[in-house]
Amino acid sequence: MSLYRDQGVVLRTIKLGEADRIVTILTQATGKVRAVAKGIRKTGSRFGARLEPTSHVALQCYRGRELDVVTQVETIDAFRQLREHYGSLTHAIAMLEAVDQVAQEREAAIRLYLLLVRALRALDSAPRDPSVVLDAFLLKLMALEGYRPALAECAGCGAKGQPRCFSIARGGGLCERCRTGEESTLDADTMPLLTALLGDDLDTTAGAEPAPASRREAGALVKGYVEYHLDRRLRAYPLVAR
Ligand SMILES: [Zn+2]
Repeated sequence: MSLYRDQGVVLRTIKLGEADRIVTILTQATGKVRAVAKGIRKTGSRFGARLEPTSHVALQCYRGRELDVVTQVETIDAFRQLREHYGSLTHAIAMLEAVDQVAQEREAAIRLYLLLVRALRALDSAPRDPSVVLDAFLLKLMALEGYRPALAECAGCGAKGQPRCFSIARGGGLCERCRTGEESTLDADTMPLLTALLGDDLDTTAGAEPAPASRREAGALVKGYVEYHLDRRLRAYPLVAR
Protein backbone atom coordinates (compact mmCIF):
# COMPACT_ATOMS: atom_id res chain seq x y z
CA MET A 1 0.00 0.00 0.00
CA SER A 2 1.25 3.47 -0.78
CA LEU A 3 0.86 6.63 1.25
CA TYR A 4 -0.36 9.87 -0.30
CA ARG A 5 -1.28 13.40 0.78
CA ASP A 6 -4.06 15.48 -0.66
CA GLN A 7 -6.68 17.97 0.38
CA GLY A 8 -10.38 17.69 -0.03
CA VAL A 9 -13.94 18.33 1.11
CA VAL A 10 -15.87 15.66 3.02
CA LEU A 11 -19.03 14.85 1.06
CA ARG A 12 -20.59 12.29 3.38
CA THR A 13 -19.82 9.70 5.99
CA ILE A 14 -21.38 6.35 6.86
CA LYS A 15 -20.89 4.14 9.88
CA LEU A 16 -18.74 1.06 9.53
CA GLY A 17 -18.74 -1.60 12.25
CA GLU A 18 -18.57 -0.50 15.88
CA ALA A 19 -16.23 2.46 15.80
CA ASP A 20 -15.28 3.36 12.24
CA ARG A 21 -16.67 5.43 9.42
CA ILE A 22 -16.29 5.39 5.67
CA VAL A 23 -15.70 8.97 4.56
CA THR A 24 -16.35 10.09 0.97
CA ILE A 25 -14.09 12.99 0.05
CA LEU A 26 -13.74 15.07 -3.11
CA THR A 27 -10.00 15.62 -3.28
CA GLN A 28 -8.02 18.14 -5.24
CA ALA A 29 -5.67 15.73 -7.01
CA THR A 30 -7.40 12.34 -7.01
CA GLY A 31 -11.08 13.19 -7.44
CA LYS A 32 -13.58 11.34 -5.29
CA VAL A 33 -12.12 8.86 -2.82
CA ARG A 34 -13.67 6.69 -0.16
CA ALA A 35 -11.56 6.08 2.90
CA VAL A 36 -11.96 4.39 6.26
CA ALA A 37 -11.41 6.52 9.36
CA LYS A 38 -10.65 3.92 12.01
CA GLY A 39 -11.83 4.53 15.55
CA ILE A 40 -13.42 7.86 14.63
CA ARG A 41 -16.58 7.13 16.64
CA LYS A 42 -14.65 6.43 19.85
CA THR A 43 -14.35 9.27 22.34
CA GLY A 44 -10.91 10.80 22.14
CA SER A 45 -10.40 9.72 18.53
CA ARG A 46 -7.39 11.42 16.98
CA PHE A 47 -9.64 12.54 14.14
CA GLY A 48 -11.96 14.45 16.48
CA ALA A 49 -14.73 16.22 14.54
CA ARG A 50 -12.50 17.01 11.58
CA LEU A 51 -14.16 14.62 9.15
CA GLU A 52 -17.73 15.92 9.10
CA PRO A 53 -19.60 16.70 5.86
CA THR A 54 -18.48 20.11 4.50
CA SER A 55 -15.08 19.92 6.31
CA HIS A 56 -12.21 21.12 4.13
CA VAL A 57 -9.16 19.14 5.20
CA ALA A 58 -5.59 18.22 4.38
CA LEU A 59 -5.20 14.50 4.76
CA GLN A 60 -2.82 11.63 4.49
CA CYS A 61 -4.10 8.21 3.46
CA TYR A 62 -2.94 4.77 2.56
CA ARG A 63 -4.16 3.81 -0.85
CA GLY A 64 -6.24 0.64 -0.71
CA ARG A 65 -7.75 -1.46 -3.45
CA GLU A 66 -11.30 -0.26 -2.86
CA LEU A 67 -11.18 1.81 0.28
CA ASP A 68 -8.27 3.98 1.35
CA VAL A 69 -7.37 4.38 5.01
CA VAL A 70 -7.08 7.83 6.59
CA THR A 71 -3.97 8.18 8.73
CA GLN A 72 -3.82 11.95 9.38
CA VAL A 73 -6.22 14.88 9.06
CA GLU A 74 -5.74 18.61 9.52
CA THR A 75 -8.50 21.15 9.18
CA ILE A 76 -8.02 23.74 6.43
CA ASP A 77 -11.45 25.30 6.90
CA ALA A 78 -14.15 24.12 9.29
CA PHE A 79 -16.73 26.55 7.81
CA ARG A 80 -17.95 27.23 11.33
CA GLN A 81 -20.52 29.91 10.42
CA LEU A 82 -22.05 27.65 7.83
CA ARG A 83 -22.30 24.75 10.29
CA GLU A 84 -23.93 26.81 13.00
CA HIS A 85 -26.56 28.23 10.69
CA TYR A 86 -29.08 25.53 9.89
CA GLY A 87 -30.24 27.22 6.68
CA SER A 88 -26.74 27.44 5.27
CA LEU A 89 -25.93 23.89 6.33
CA THR A 90 -28.91 22.40 4.50
CA HIS A 91 -27.88 24.27 1.36
CA ALA A 92 -24.33 22.98 1.77
CA ILE A 93 -25.59 19.41 2.14
CA ALA A 94 -27.54 19.79 -1.12
CA MET A 95 -24.29 20.92 -2.81
CA LEU A 96 -22.39 17.93 -1.43
CA GLU A 97 -25.09 15.57 -2.69
CA ALA A 98 -24.91 16.99 -6.22
CA VAL A 99 -21.10 16.75 -6.23
CA ASP A 100 -21.23 13.17 -4.98
CA GLN A 101 -23.55 12.33 -7.88
CA VAL A 102 -21.38 13.80 -10.64
CA ALA A 103 -17.87 13.05 -9.33
CA GLN A 104 -16.30 9.77 -10.41
CA GLU A 105 -14.10 7.78 -8.05
CA ARG A 106 -10.39 8.45 -8.54
CA GLU A 107 -10.96 10.67 -11.54
CA ALA A 108 -9.37 14.09 -11.04
CA ALA A 109 -11.93 16.91 -11.07
CA ILE A 110 -10.00 20.00 -10.10
CA ARG A 111 -12.56 22.50 -11.42
CA LEU A 112 -15.38 20.78 -9.59
CA TYR A 113 -13.28 20.77 -6.42
CA LEU A 114 -12.49 24.49 -6.73
CA LEU A 115 -16.13 25.32 -7.46
CA LEU A 116 -17.25 23.41 -4.35
CA VAL A 117 -14.69 25.11 -2.10
CA ARG A 118 -15.69 28.56 -3.41
CA ALA A 119 -19.38 27.79 -2.93
CA LEU A 120 -18.85 26.61 0.65
CA ARG A 121 -16.89 29.80 1.36
CA ALA A 122 -19.75 31.84 -0.06
CA LEU A 123 -22.23 30.00 2.18
CA ASP A 124 -19.90 30.52 5.14
CA SER A 125 -19.83 34.28 4.53
CA ALA A 126 -23.43 34.69 5.83
CA PRO A 127 -25.02 35.27 2.41
CA ARG A 128 -28.23 37.28 2.21
CA ASP A 129 -30.04 34.30 0.70
CA PRO A 130 -28.27 30.90 0.83
CA SER A 131 -30.74 29.37 -1.65
CA VAL A 132 -29.47 31.75 -4.33
CA VAL A 133 -25.90 30.58 -3.69
CA LEU A 134 -27.07 26.97 -4.03
CA ASP A 135 -28.85 27.65 -7.32
CA ALA A 136 -25.80 29.52 -8.69
CA PHE A 137 -23.59 26.61 -7.66
CA LEU A 138 -25.86 24.08 -9.38
CA LEU A 139 -25.96 26.07 -12.63
CA LYS A 140 -22.15 26.33 -12.64
CA LEU A 141 -21.87 22.63 -11.88
CA MET A 142 -24.16 21.84 -14.82
CA ALA A 143 -22.03 24.03 -17.09
CA LEU A 144 -18.90 22.16 -15.91
CA GLU A 145 -20.59 18.85 -16.67
CA GLY A 146 -21.42 19.94 -20.20
CA TYR A 147 -25.02 21.02 -19.64
CA ARG A 148 -24.71 24.81 -19.76
CA PRO A 149 -28.27 26.08 -20.24
CA ALA A 150 -28.96 28.48 -23.13
CA LEU A 151 -29.96 31.76 -21.48
CA ALA A 152 -28.92 34.49 -23.93
CA GLU A 153 -30.14 32.71 -27.03
CA CYS A 154 -32.77 30.21 -28.07
CA ALA A 155 -31.91 26.57 -27.23
CA GLY A 156 -33.86 25.49 -30.31
CA CYS A 157 -32.60 27.67 -33.18
CA GLY A 158 -29.80 29.70 -31.59
CA ALA A 159 -31.50 33.06 -32.26
CA LYS A 160 -29.89 35.77 -30.12
CA GLY A 161 -31.87 37.59 -27.50
CA GLN A 162 -33.02 36.61 -24.07
CA PRO A 163 -35.99 34.22 -24.30
CA ARG A 164 -39.01 34.56 -22.02
CA CYS A 165 -39.78 30.87 -21.68
CA PHE A 166 -37.65 27.93 -20.68
CA SER A 167 -37.65 24.26 -21.65
CA ILE A 168 -35.82 21.98 -19.23
CA ALA A 169 -35.73 19.11 -21.73
CA ARG A 170 -34.42 21.26 -24.60
CA GLY A 171 -31.73 22.82 -22.50
CA GLY A 172 -32.69 26.43 -21.98
CA GLY A 173 -34.74 29.34 -23.21
CA LEU A 174 -36.88 29.14 -26.32
CA CYS A 175 -37.79 31.93 -28.71
CA GLU A 176 -41.37 32.63 -29.75
CA ARG A 177 -40.98 30.57 -32.93
CA CYS A 178 -39.49 27.51 -31.20
CA ARG A 179 -41.74 27.33 -28.17
CA THR A 180 -44.42 24.66 -28.39
CA GLY A 181 -46.92 26.34 -26.13
CA GLU A 182 -46.27 23.92 -23.29
CA GLU A 183 -43.64 26.16 -21.73
CA SER A 184 -45.05 28.84 -19.50
CA THR A 185 -43.94 32.44 -19.91
CA LEU A 186 -41.53 33.39 -17.15
CA ASP A 187 -41.55 36.37 -14.86
CA ALA A 188 -39.61 39.16 -16.59
CA ASP A 189 -36.84 38.97 -13.99
CA THR A 190 -36.30 35.18 -14.05
CA MET A 191 -34.06 34.83 -17.12
CA PRO A 192 -31.89 37.80 -16.07
CA LEU A 193 -31.63 36.18 -12.63
CA LEU A 194 -30.59 32.79 -14.07
CA THR A 195 -28.06 34.60 -16.28
CA ALA A 196 -26.59 36.36 -13.24
CA LEU A 197 -26.48 33.14 -11.19
CA LEU A 198 -24.62 31.33 -13.98
CA GLY A 199 -22.28 34.19 -14.87
CA ASP A 200 -21.50 36.08 -11.67
CA ASP A 201 -18.87 34.95 -9.22
CA LEU A 202 -20.21 33.38 -6.05
CA ASP A 203 -19.14 36.28 -3.83
CA THR A 204 -21.36 38.59 -5.85
CA THR A 205 -24.18 36.07 -5.61
CA ALA A 206 -23.75 35.88 -1.83
CA GLY A 207 -24.69 39.58 -1.66
CA ALA A 208 -27.73 39.23 -3.92
CA GLU A 209 -31.32 39.25 -2.73
CA PRO A 210 -33.55 38.76 -5.77
CA ALA A 211 -37.29 39.42 -5.77
CA PRO A 212 -39.25 36.45 -4.33
CA ALA A 213 -41.27 35.66 -7.48
CA SER A 214 -38.30 35.29 -9.83
CA ARG A 215 -36.25 33.59 -7.14
CA ARG A 216 -38.91 30.91 -6.65
CA GLU A 217 -39.34 30.45 -10.38
CA ALA A 218 -35.57 30.21 -10.93
CA GLY A 219 -35.21 27.73 -8.07
CA ALA A 220 -37.85 25.41 -9.49
CA LEU A 221 -36.21 25.58 -12.94
CA VAL A 222 -32.72 24.90 -11.58
CA LYS A 223 -33.86 21.89 -9.58
CA GLY A 224 -35.85 20.50 -12.51
CA TYR A 225 -32.97 21.16 -14.91
CA VAL A 226 -30.38 19.38 -12.74
CA GLU A 227 -32.61 16.38 -12.06
CA TYR A 228 -33.60 16.00 -15.70
CA HIS A 229 -30.10 16.20 -17.17
CA LEU A 230 -28.30 14.22 -14.48
CA ASP A 231 -31.23 11.80 -14.35
CA ARG A 232 -30.99 11.81 -10.55
CA ARG A 233 -33.19 13.15 -7.80
CA LEU A 234 -31.71 15.86 -5.61
CA ARG A 235 -33.00 14.45 -2.36
CA ALA A 236 -31.43 17.10 -0.15
CA TYR A 237 -32.85 19.95 -2.24
CA PRO A 238 -36.50 19.98 -1.10
CA LEU A 239 -35.34 20.59 2.49
CA VAL A 240 -34.35 24.05 1.38
CA ALA A 241 -36.91 26.58 2.59
CA ARG A 242 -38.01 28.97 -0.14
ZN1 LIG B 1 -35.74 29.50 -31.53
